[in-house]
Amino acid sequence: MVTPEERAGPLPRERYQRAMLAVVLAALSISCAPAGAIAAPDIAPSPDTGVDRNPSCRREDFRIAIDVGHTPDAPGALSARGRPEYEFNHQLAQEMNDTFRRAGFAKTLLILMRGEGKTQLRERSVLASSFKADLFLSIHHDDVQPIFYDEWTYNGRFHHFSDKYAGFSIFVSRRNRFADQSVQFATLLGAELKKRGMTFTAHHAEDIRGERRQILDHERGVYRYDQLMVLKNTEAPAVLLEAGVIVNRDEESVLSSPNRRKQISEAALAAAVRFCSEAQDAQPREKR
Ligand SMILES: [Zn+2]
Repeated sequence: MVTPEERAGPLPRERYQRAMLAVVLAALSISCAPAGAIAAPDIAPSPDTGVDRNPSCRREDFRIAIDVGHTPDAPGALSARGRPEYEFNHQLAQEMNDTFRRAGFAKTLLILMRGEGKTQLRERSVLASSFKADLFLSIHHDDVQPIFYDEWTYNGRFHHFSDKYAGFSIFVSRRNRFADQSVQFATLLGAELKKRGMTFTAHHAEDIRGERRQILDHERGVYRYDQLMVLKNTEAPAVLLEAGVIVNRDEESVLSSPNRRKQISEAALAAAVRFCSEAQDAQPREKR
């Protein structure tokens, strides 16, 4: 999970420099991306994606920024078996990026940051905005409040876990400049995840400290979280996906599997194709 209050503290020079280095590296990874990594735009999606090619979506013109939540230095939640959230986020985001590229979305940006605190959070939005993203998708894996933690031993080590909750959730910020479109994409994504058998967890709406988030769509698992920095600051329709709860022992196993990463990536692709069609059919977005 991510919070807007990720500890920032003062701005030590080293932390700032590391964050800026990551920005440069991420930017370079786009401009220097090998041509072989980009699928030809007219490649049809594989039959098992369940995505119809919609002629009104010019995939080669639709720019998608995929944000890998957290950093190696501040890796987010710890799973029930002690794996850092950052590893789950990176693997899933990479799979999504590959899935988009194979399907003809030739302009994608994978955002990988270093450091910790608010500087690297702000820079994610700066990168996505200067990339002129048409869609921003931040990838995370979920935790629960510590009051629900229990302990167990795995591979001879103590770990915390909670099997109380499982499922995905999707967040949007009403303070994003494209808030309506953000909700629109979140709704499409939630529908595609459910279509593939995944379920929504409502635990972020519980009346306990640290939660109390408003659910905007109970069917498709969309929450409102206005203060999330990466959502409110990015100049593009933006959603944050919590792909599942990694402190849940069973769900961690499922989320670790290539098959689940494939399912989620295909859901994101199907949602992006539909969103792209609707966005391009609507009024052109104001030039940024
Ligand atoms: Zn997170």
